[in-house]
Amino acid sequence: MLQDSFSRQFQYIRISVTERCNFKCQYCLPNGYQRTCADDSLFVAEIDNLVAALVDMGVWKIRLTGGEPTLRRDLSEIMQIIRGYPQIRELGITTNGFKLGDKINEYFNAGLTNLNVSVDSMDGEQFKNITQVDKLDYIMDSIKTARSIGVCKIKINAVLLPHSLTELDMFLEYIRNQPISVRFIELMQTSDNGAYFKANYIDAAILHNELLQRGWQQIAREDGAGPAIEFSHTDYIGKVGIIAPYRKDFCSTCNRLRFTHTGALRLCLFGDGNYPLRNLLQSKQQKPELQQAILVALSEKPKAHQLASFKTGNIQNLSNVGG
Ligand code: SAM
Ligand code: SF4
Repeated sequence: MLQDSFSRQFQYIRISVTERCNFKCQYCLPNGYQRTCADDSLFVAEIDNLVAALVDMGVWKIRLTGGEPTLRRDLSEIMQIIRGYPQIRELGITTNGFKLGDKINEYFNAGLTNLNVSVDSMDGEQFKNITQVDKLDYIMDSIKTARSIGVCKIKINAVLLPHSLTELDMFLEYIRNQPISVRFIELMQTSDNGAYFKANYIDAAILHNELLQRGWQQIAREDGAGPAIEFSHTDYIGKVGIIAPYRKDFCSTCNRLRFTHTGALRLCLFGDGNYPLRNLLQSKQQKPELQQAILVALSEKPKAHQLASFKTGNIQNLSNVGG
C-alpha cells in the first residue's frame, strides 16, 4: 500500500506524458511552450513498467496529463496498456480539448473512462483571450460527442478568474440538464506567473458563498475523489466543484501523487522534491527496486504545502510538472 507518514493513502496517480503544449493560457504558458531540449518524455514501455509497479501497491485510478497529453501520437497505445491492468478501474485525461473531437472515439475504445476538459470561459471571445486559441465551439461539441459515445465521468475545469463570477450563470445553465461537473480551480501562484496571480487571484470562498446563497449544497466526497469540495442542487443534474489549494486543511485529504514526463516522482505539486526514478523504469525486473524507492520517497511527503507563506516550491508553471 502507498501510505505516507500522516496515514494518507494514495490510490490515484497522475502521470504527465509530455510537457509540450499548444495553448498559451495566460496563467500557465502565456508565451507558449518553449522547447529547450529534445523531447525527453517517458517511452510507452517505461510508463508500462511504472504502472506495473503501481497497481501492485493498490493504485486503481490513473490520470494522464501534461502539458497537453493529446499531443502524444501514441496516447491511445498508452491508454490501452494501462487499461490492460485489471486493477485499473478508472483512466482519465486532463486536456485542453484541442483535438478531442477527432480523437475521442479512439481514446474511448482504448479504455478512457474519465474526461476532464479545461474550459476557462463559456464565452468564445473570453476563451480566446485566455488561451489564445479560437476553438471553444469545437471543444464544446467534442464534449457532446464524448457524452454520446458513453464516456461516463466528464468534468470541466475552469480556473477561477475575475470573469468566472460574472459567467457563473452560463456555467450553471450548461450543467442544468446534463451529468457534467464544473470544477472551479483557484488560481495558483507559480514562479512564472507572480504578476498575473496578484492581478487575478479570486478567493474561492466568494464562489462558495455564492453557491450556498443560490441553494447549492455541499455533498460528501466520493471514494478516490480529488480534492474538490462538491455541490449539488435539486434543479440541476450536474455538479459544481471547488478546488481551493489555499484553503486551510486542503492537504489533509491529499490522495494523489504525480510522476513528471521524465519519470520523476513529485510528492506535492508545490513541494521542492522531485525524485528521479527513470533509471528504475527500464525493465520489469526492476519492479521491487522501484517500489522500494517510491516508498522511501513517500515517507518524505510533507504534511502540507507552504503556499500561504508564498512558497510555491520549484514550480515554474503547471505544464512542466504535470498539473
Ligand atoms: N493541458 C491540459 C489542460 O489544460 O487541461 C492539462 C495540463 S494543465 C497544466 C491541467 C490543469 O491545470 C488545467 O485545468 C489548467 O487550467 C490548470 N492550471 C494550469 N495552471 C494553473 C494555475 N496556475 N492555477 C490553477 N490552475 C492551473
Ligand atoms: Fe497548456 Fe494546459 Fe497550461 Fe493551458 S493550462 S497552457 S492548455 S498546459
